[in-house]
Amino acid sequence: TFRSRRGLPEKRKIRDVKKIVAVSSAKGGVGKSTIAVNLALSFARRGIKTGILDTDIFGPSIPTLLNLSGEPRLDENNCLVPLTNYGLKSMSMGYLLPQTQADSTTGEVPMDSTPISWRGLMVTKAMHQLLHSVSWGPLDVLILDLPPGTGDVQLTINQEIIIDGAVIVSTPQDIALRDAVRGIGMFQRMEVPVLGMVRNMAYFACPQCGTQTRIFSHGDSHHHTHGENHGVVAECKRLGVDFLGDIPLDARVCEDADRGMPTVVAEESVERSARREAFLGVA
Ligand code: ADP
Repeated sequence: TFRSRRGLPEKRKIRDVKKIVAVSSAKGGVGKSTIAVNLALSFARRGIKTGILDTDIFGPSIPTLLNLSGEPRLDENNCLVPLTNYGLKSMSMGYLLPQTQADSTTGEVPMDSTPISWRGLMVTKAMHQLLHSVSWGPLDVLILDLPPGTGDVQLTINQEIIIDGAVIVSTPQDIALRDAVRGIGMFQRMEVPVLGMVRNMAYFACPQCGTQTRIFSHGDSHHHTHGENHGVVAECKRLGVDFLGDIPLDARVCEDADRGMPTVVAEESVERSARREAFLGVA
């Protein structure tokens, strides 16, 4: 259901797309793209027509996660044709822009030979294309992998299209959570319904003995279900936002990502795998 958006410029819906769900995090590296792609694949696996749109400018990871690359072709209406893998349609900044890898320690993007003003124009043009000129065909859900943060890019995207709901990804760490709360505030101000918060890397389950260690635990205390005064679950309560669930820290999630076969797909043959269940549970 859409709320009234008085005073805001009229937004556009994406043609043939029923619902747009944004996956967002205020910080990079908390697992936003991993969760976005597994969420999308969970939907697709249930027969829901799904696409994923990766709007991350400097670190688009959907191409790697879905093991896809190359330039999308244009259809007769000059719209980009999505690239598909595992039954999931995808479009990414990574298919459109020459990529310069951000430095993994400083996060800085090295200068490439493209003049900065030209690069800015290319980004603006590519973003517009991503939002308005992709031939998705009929989709039930489009998952929007937003760039991390709560800045201009997020505002611009929200001004250009109607986002039906947002899923917030956080880790249990205080600093990540503080930023996530800021992210929730941003969506609430933009009148985008917050569908809930996912706690990624909630704990490490030892593959040998099964012991669960809350590595990033802070506030989300050892009492998993009781007595959390602060932390993700408590913040959700305070803000009236649903807590959607925990995803464990698991080396195989990372390996799956690196080989371009997200966990929801990788675990398909394994019955009742905890990891797949975690992602499906969130979906
Ligand atoms: P973001 O989109 O927030 O920047 P990514 O989804 O790219 O984060 O994840 C950052 C890194 O953490 C990636 O290497 C990813 O494979 C890894 N990762 C994410 N979630 C998990 C998890 N639950 N267990 C293990 N590794 C994870």
